[in-house]
Amino acid sequence: MHVKGPTSRAELTTNLGLNRSTIGALTADLTAVGLVREEVPRDHGRAGRPSLVVTPESDRFYVYAFAIEVDRVTAARVGLGGVVLDRREMLRPRGDRPADKVVAPLGEFVRDIEKQVPDGAVCIGSAAAVSAIVRQEDGMVRLGGHIGWVDEPLGAALSEALGSRGVEIRPAVRNGADLAALAEHTRGVAAGIDNVIYLHGDAGVGGGIIAGGRPVTGHGGYGGEVGHMAVNPQGRPCACGSRGCWETEIGEYALIRGAGRDGTGRESVAKVVDAASRGDAMAQASLRQVGDWLGFGVANLVNIFNPEMIIFGGTLRDVYLASAAPVRGRLNRMCVQAVREHVRLRTSALAGDAELLGAAEMAFEHLLADPLEVATGSTDEAPALT
Ligand SMILES: [Zn+2]
Repeated sequence: MHVKGPTSRAELTTNLGLNRSTIGALTADLTAVGLVREEVPRDHGRAGRPSLVVTPESDRFYVYAFAIEVDRVTAARVGLGGVVLDRREMLRPRGDRPADKVVAPLGEFVRDIEKQVPDGAVCIGSAAAVSAIVRQEDGMVRLGGHIGWVDEPLGAALSEALGSRGVEIRPAVRNGADLAALAEHTRGVAAGIDNVIYLHGDAGVGGGIIAGGRPVTGHGGYGGEVGHMAVNPQGRPCACGSRGCWETEIGEYALIRGAGRDGTGRESVAKVVDAASRGDAMAQASLRQVGDWLGFGVANLVNIFNPEMIIFGGTLRDVYLASAAPVRGRLNRMCVQAVREHVRLRTSALAGDAELLGAAEMAFEHLLADPLEVATGSTDEAPALT
């Protein structure tokens, strides 16, 4: 119900393969703690007693989701069912900026949003997506090359900022592309698909890998750093300290400079794509070159992980759409035929909100794992509001 929205008892019985009385008992339990409500459908055409429709109580249980991206910082209050109830965002200037320049405004956003929260609504978790390499255990940002952070204790700082604004919940902090992959897998273009690689481009390139339905996080949470896959030993220096990483060949810098232009950000990338479509030879050459490197890396990932779908997000969405031919050319030449046959290339369905919605999904995880325990626990000791 959290993913599919309002669902009839009859559908639940079929989808879950349980009998009617079990579904009735389960929905009664969920209704009793206020997680769902049951209603008679408005127009049930058929004769006889209609199957009750079970709807998640989005206004009653919610989480805070945060996204810290290279150019933007967003906070949202998201209700059960993935409904964005309220949101705030600010643009973030490029360059090295201390973490408190991000954490303090996020705390203010939460304080502001909390003023609108109806009585009886309960915050049951929070999570943050950040464009960086993050230690899963405690939310320490080990390296955010493009946001200018090294060993920033983001989890602890966010926790403190939220606590002082009345929300006593320690946020889970994860890599942005990992959470975008989770969002696309849960309610985006890869819903129902268990082997997926999400690629996000901005100043750098992030990746989120889902294999067999589970995120590939590695030992410390650093898995999936595909942007630092070494592809060109003669290449440019990378923000990570190495040279010739994939992101130095397909990131926005490579595309924009390759087209003989200045500027940074999605808009500058869009200008190159636009110029190429109007016949600008340098822009076309740069897109071809970047598309070729994009295909080179994707072909390697396809050979290693045998995904069913590759999703292009951020600036890579624009780059892929404008250079699909060189990308597919590389895949056709470099992929093992057996794995090439099953891979679909797609663009993000959740677009700019994938990381934010992924953070919300992460924050809901413990509730979905044990709804009655979490719902009753939270109701007993609801976070005190200032
Ligand atoms: Zn690198």
